[in-house]
Amino acid sequence: MSKVEETTLARSFPARYAGRTVLAVGAHPDDVELGIGGTLARLSRAGARVVIAVASVPSHYGTRRKEAEASAKILGCELRVLLDGGGCQRIEDVKHYQLVGMLDDVVRELGPAAVLTHSASEMHSDHISVHNACVSTQRLRYFDFFAFNPTMCRPMPVPFYPRAYVDISETIEVKMHAIAAHESQFANRGIDLAIFRDTAHLMGRLVGVQYAEGLDVGRLLLN
Ligand SMILES: [Zn+2]
Repeated sequence: MSKVEETTLARSFPARYAGRTVLAVGAHPDDVELGIGGTLARLSRAGARVVIAVASVPSHYGTRRKEAEASAKILGCELRVLLDGGGCQRIEDVKHYQLVGMLDDVVRELGPAAVLTHSASEMHSDHISVHNACVSTQRLRYFDFFAFNPTMCRPMPVPFYPRAYVDISETIEVKMHAIAAHESQFANRGIDLAIFRDTAHLMGRLVGVQYAEGLDVGRLLLN
């Protein structure tokens, strides 16, 4: 490896978390894949322990749980389901303090170097609840905190202004493969996945790379 390549690698976003734990929190199975699937694949390839915490499986528990497990494996991540009584549960059926408590437990256990989750600007109230609960966990310890693009099966206009971008040109195919693993949400409903590739391409265009994922920055320690 040349000196220049070494320097670039040492300064990369995934290198920041190599050997450390990153926690990605989504309200439902498929959310983190849509928002940051390419980023998570890059982090895990770079040697981070990446844990995906899915807050709830709201429907077809067996199928969606299996899809989430397959997708996490494709991305090289571990999967946790927080509201996991072995059946479908909805975030609105628990009190907000209980959701915060579940996330607190995961943060205490894992001690993540970074948490990535939904943004405050979302079209689904479950996503906003998860964002708010993750905001609360920041009181426990320091971790870098990022929010990802609003996630949905079919495109809708929701305001979101990324302030940081992760180059996912290397992992776009892994991201698409992970999204496709959620067959019950896409293939079985006749939903074309091209929009997710197009979105990554557009994000990439904004920063001069082929494909990217946009993040809002909640908290970041610059060394
Ligand atoms: Zn969702």
